[in-house]
Amino acid sequence: MAFAYNHAVMPREPIDPTQRDEDSSLNSLRPPDLSEFIGQEKLKGQINLALSAARQRVEVLDHILLHGPPGLGKTTLANIIATEMGVDIKTTSGPVVEKPGEIAALITGLSPGDVLFIDEIHRLRRNVEEILYPAMEDFKIDLMIGEGPSAQSLRLDVPRFTLIGATTRQGLLTSPLRDRFEVVFHMDFYADDELQQIVLRGGKILDVEVTEEGAFEIARRARGTPRIANRILKRLRDYAQVHGDGIIDSRIAEEGLALLEIDMEGLDELDRSILKMIIEKFSGGPVGLDTLSAALSEEKDTISEVYEPFLLKKGFIQRTPQGRIATEHAYKHLNLPGRPHQTLF
Ligand code: ADP
Repeated sequence: MAFAYNHAVMPREPIDPTQRDEDSSLNSLRPPDLSEFIGQEKLKGQINLALSAARQRVEVLDHILLHGPPGLGKTTLANIIATEMGVDIKTTSGPVVEKPGEIAALITGLSPGDVLFIDEIHRLRRNVEEILYPAMEDFKIDLMIGEGPSAQSLRLDVPRFTLIGATTRQGLLTSPLRDRFEVVFHMDFYADDELQQIVLRGGKILDVEVTEEGAFEIARRARGTPRIANRILKRLRDYAQVHGDGIIDSRIAEEGLALLEIDMEGLDELDRSILKMIIEKFSGGPVGLDTLSAALSEEKDTISEVYEPFLLKKGFIQRTPQGRIATEHAYKHLNLPGRPHQTLF
């Protein structure tokens, strides 16, 4: 297939913002408290308010749902919230919890005021999720003792705790679960100057000199995502060592980014394949997600959760009820002649 994405030829990194094992080496870059957390000013203000109110009332913090694309700092914020409240945090993830008993054990093991953080909360199994309803609302859990006709339900008190859920897909949350979060915070992509600050801070921690211009070059191609900015920084540190004097300036950043095949707009090979596919195979669209993912041999979720939000934000594609369409901006970026028919509907 002409534009099929080939992992063997071009591994999709460092663009994919989902967490990977290699990211553990970036843990030192996690801001430890709100004062070091760059950007998301409105959100930080809201969190500060919630924290101060809970502290003043000497109450447990309300349950919080954080939603937004991967790599923007949801896990980091959950940890910061626990630190700022002076409580412990236990962390798990939706797909990891297999049985209701596992989540019940996590909750009963909490001390009063602690935070339970559930990443990818939209992927909790239904029977596991149901344990959370009374736990969140009344700080009680219902356990089934025994099996079959003799099974009995036992209601246990649990410590008052704060649940922080993170999701990339708020729409996939069931309404009973969504309704039990008192506070819902949305995280959006970062501005270039915020990412520039994140890169400069990362450079100091990783002990690599980054010039303002070098940091900006990384920032504007990091898809508004701190995890990607940090990953690029790590790659460019190696590149600067081998091909320069160890300093990441704009020349080193440009050369290194070209090697990573990240273009001036921050698009990688798969982004460009998606756009080319819509334009050349489907006459600019509209094309449905299923068709697109089959044509590209790429997972639907990867396209819709990782690639599409950024292409939409940058105005390369538009979503219509009939499917995705490539915009004029996409034609121009790829140096392709414009849409044959400008009337879309
Ligand atoms: P998410 O849970 O949303 O996928 P994480 O909290 O794991 O994202 O953050 C991804 C990476 O980006 C972490 O390594 C963290 O150090 C970094 N990061 C996120 N937000 C910020 C920020 N505001 N300032 C500095 N670094 C950040």
